[in-house]
Amino acid sequence: MSVDPRDAELADALAAVRLRVEAACAAARRVVDEVTLVVVTKTYPAADVVRLAGLGVTDAGEARHPEAGRKADEVARAGVTGVRWHFVGAVQTNKAAAVARYSDVVHSVDRARLVSALERGAARAQRTLDCLVQVDLDESAAGGGRSGAHRDDVPALADAVDGCEHLRLRGLMAVAPLAANPAAAFARLAEVAADLAAGHPAARWVSAGMSADLEHAVAAGATHLRVGRAVLGERPPLH
Ligand SMILES: *Cc1c(COP(=O)(O)O)cnc(C)c1O
Repeated sequence: MSVDPRDAELADALAAVRLRVEAACAAARRVVDEVTLVVVTKTYPAADVVRLAGLGVTDAGEARHPEAGRKADEVARAGVTGVRWHFVGAVQTNKAAAVARYSDVVHSVDRARLVSALERGAARAQRTLDCLVQVDLDESAAGGGRSGAHRDDVPALADAVDGCEHLRLRGLMAVAPLAANPAAAFARLAEVAADLAAGHPAARWVSAGMSADLEHAVAAGATHLRVGRAVLGERPPLH
């Protein structure tokens, strides 16, 4: 039996990431089962998602429409079922219905108009969509490249999601700002998460941590890590 070299490469990289997660959990005295690894497969082909599923990966992350939907269809056509699709990138309002059709979880709910657009899409597709409110942790940002809701706007946005029949409020997501200390940024996220859980006890997911900073995220209580490059390799530059 010949071994697909890409299979072997992914198996090694995945094993290394799982060891990092285990070590981070041990250091934080956390149970590894509390942490879900979402492998972010953007720019990589559906064949890699199929390979990863064969290696036990249950959660795949995508950041761009329509790439994400095409890939979900291809993976299903390859006979792989049971992959949960996480949409982690910015969602345009006019693409929300399409994203709601093929995603299981949307991590990037950042404005009220998107909430209503996702609800309409999920209702039309007759499904329930898990949603995370994305929080902007960049305190230096003077607007501009803001991604995520301002922390003060999180409660209203969470209530809006919670009020939708086809959306399920699960928690929060954030990306550590490039210039920030990730430990400090994730500590702020943990505060926002505690405030959210006080009013919404079922909304306890915290999606934080990527290839470069997953240890800090685990230490701060992340329940979902979004790891791309450390598993799949460096991506070609985006354009
Ligand atoms: C691409 C991406 C990731 C994965 O980043 P890596 O550095 O490749 O681990 C995580 N979260 C979001 C929102 C992304 O767009």
